[in-house]
Amino acid sequence: QARAAKRHVAAFDPAVYGDPAGNLSLISELMTALRGGEVTLAYQPKYDFRAERVTGVEALMRWTHPRRGFVPPDLFIGMAEETGHIRPLTEWAIDRAIEDQRTLSAAGHDLLVSVNISGRLLADESFADLAIAAVTSAGARLCFEITETAVMTNPETALRIVSRFADAGISISLDDYGSGLSSLAYLKQIRADELKIDKAFILGLDQSARDGLLVKSTIDLAHGLGLKVTAEGVETPTALALLRGMGCDLAQGYLIGRPVSLSAMIERLAEQPQA
Ligand code: C2E
Ligand code: CA
Ligand code: CA
Ligand code: CA
Repeated sequence: QARAAKRHVAAFDPAVYGDPAGNLSLISELMTALRGGEVTLAYQPKYDFRAERVTGVEALMRWTHPRRGFVPPDLFIGMAEETGHIRPLTEWAIDRAIEDQRTLSAAGHDLLVSVNISGRLLADESFADLAIAAVTSAGARLCFEITETAVMTNPETALRIVSRFADAGISISLDDYGSGLSSLAYLKQIRADELKIDKAFILGLDQSARDGLLVKSTIDLAHGLGLKVTAEGVETPTALALLRGMGCDLAQGYLIGRPVSLSAMIERLAEQPQA
């Protein structure tokens, strides 16, 4: 336990992450780690208010470096994006998620599994070909979480690729909604099924009437467009109750459950009433 804590601190050492040479070696180590099984997916439950149960999970990438310990995903994913290594990571995550969905299903839990798709990949038609082939050949029921920044950079290609995903039966979730410019044009043009309100607004829900107003308006707007709404960053019973009252569809956050290994998720799901 003490050792794990020490490793965790080491992962944030600026001497390691501050210099470009260190980051470069970290990326090559990441690619080795991917092949060597150091990279895993953690799953966080998504609770459906109406069904009163967990109906989906989000896959979140985890990397435990043998020496440096836990490496924050924002850090290594950002680096992988900048160095052009995000594609193999994402292809791995999709394959892993498909397999894990089968495992969940065999354990009696049919859940929608969400995978984060880096915006850079919405400019890559050959990535889309591969992702669609993987999902359709497996008959998997996946959701791709995407952020709007990508769509803003190269709207034509991104919107076309998102439509191809939707045609292939993949659900589309608009992640981190509200954290960027969140233009109405984006909402109007994109083929999405779900809007995910950024946790920045949900974390303040207990204290801030302004956040409450913004969240309620966003839920109404999304519903008007036929989108489901997930609130992320639900940490308190008060926030959960407020969201239920606002007609929010799904809740995700530490209150419902933290991201955990697949096996821990299966144990957790065994405790909830079966559908
Ligand atoms: P995200 O997609 O917005 O994921 C939600 C983040 O919020 C996760 O952080 C999750 O652990 C955290 N979170 C969940 N519930 C709560 C809560 O109640 N309170 C608070 N304060 N935080 C909560 P995580 O796992 O550190 O991931 C950070 C980001 O890294 C993700 O943000 C996503 O942008 C990226 N990421 C993670 N896995 C992948 C992946 O497989 N592919 C890609 N492209 N990006 C990924
Ligand atoms: Ca996400
Ligand atoms: Ca998010
Ligand atoms: Ca995020």
